Amino acid sequence: IIRFDNIRKSFGTLTVLDGLSFEVMPGEKLALIGPSGSGKTTILRILMTLEDISGGHIEVCGEQLYHMHKGGAEVPADEAHLHKMRRHIGMVFQHFNLFPHKCVLDNITLAPILTKGEKRAEAEKRGMALLDMVGLADKARAMPSQLSGGQKQRVAIARALALQPRIMLFDEVTSALDPELVEEVLAVMKRLADETDMTMLLVTHEMGFAHEFADRVLFFDRGRIIEQGPPDRIFTNPTQERTQTFLRKII
Ligand code: ATP
Repeated sequence: IIRFDNIRKSFGTLTVLDGLSFEVMPGEKLALIGPSGSGKTTILRILMTLEDISGGHIEVCGEQLYHMHKGGAEVPADEAHLHKMRRHIGMVFQHFNLFPHKCVLDNITLAPILTKGEKRAEAEKRGMALLDMVGLADKARAMPSQLSGGQKQRVAIARALALQPRIMLFDEVTSALDPELVEEVLAVMKRLADETDMTMLLVTHEMGFAHEFADRVLFFDRGRIIEQGPPDRIFTNPTQERTQTFLRKII
């Protein structure tokens, strides 16, 4: 459902991704781990078209993300194409980015109503079902400022799901939370992973959770995949020196 083919990404003279290739199968739950600055967040931002690429090709749901074909030639994707492709993907960020002046339910229904032309009643019905799923049905009319960090993050997850993406990206979604609030957010994500066939990519420093959540773990260092495999093997028996050193430091 996702194919990175020889992706390069530089910020000025800094090369962050250096010929990165990997594939993600439909329904797969992937954890991206690795040292700070190794390019994990950049990968998610590129998929979300929040960053441009410096070279290579990316396919999402069978179509090129950053390229399109016109008159037999390959040309850079235009805004209309990017807009269409973005609909496949939902993203949850470290900082929740809720609209502060809208209540919880409006935060969830705004995008489906404005970008997909959904009827308000329909969007609200699904919004309430999503709030129920994340355990916050009683907060539908609360304002974001009245919520805890964990509750805000659960609303952000419901908001991303409201657009019914085929792929969900989670970028260190618990790292800004107080420790006692982490668990409730992870529980929601674990349920999503277990109960849906959505494809999910998770960037995390929580190795315990990556182990529970993922079908496959990718270990990155300096914009390259050093090692990948099922969590049981990566976490208990990594073959690469760099993975071993990283896991020794972090666990
Ligand atoms: P972390 O775990 O700390 O979030 P990461 O593996 O997600 O790290 P990225 O956030 O992808 O790493 O960043 C990779 C590198 O790219 C870092 O060295 C970072 O400083 C750099 N970088 C990211 N965004 C930009 C930007 N907009 N301009 C310049 N450099 C950037």
